[in-house]
Amino acid sequence: MEKKELENYLANIVLIMKADGEYDPHEIDGFQTICKGVGATEDNLEKAMQVVENGDYGLTPAGRLSDKIRNLEDMIYVFLSTSKLPDSEKKIVLSYAKMIQLTQQQINEILKETRQRFEAENQASFCDACGKQMPQGSKYCPFCGGRC
Ligand SMILES: [Zn+2]
Repeated sequence: MEKKELENYLANIVLIMKADGEYDPHEIDGFQTICKGVGATEDNLEKAMQVVENGDYGLTPAGRLSDKIRNLEDMIYVFLSTSKLPDSEKKIVLSYAKMIQLTQQQINEILKETRQRFEAENQASFCDACGKQMPQGSKYCPFCGGRC
């Protein structure tokens, strides 16, 4: 990806992190891993944070189709790192997925795969009923009471 594309790629993720008004420390961890993965420099990162902070950045799909899908996966990954799974963040993920013209079935598949990757990498599990992250070893979901 070119510099500008890479900055948009990162800014899309920053938008997710910022959607609920605060940067969650877990989100920042996830974000740093993502930055390494796409070869972003400190400079790219700062630029991306800046455009979002300025308040006039809107979701912009960046790069080739494979980059756009990877961007979506990264956005979902960061979304999952906030155990609260705020609706404000979910809305951005979904509108981005629609923007790159994925079908609902493709979106569901990517959600499922990213969730499995997140669970494997973080030894975490999510409730099948409500989708929230559950404390390890719990038998019932503390959020909705569903069986784990
Ligand atoms: Zn639940």
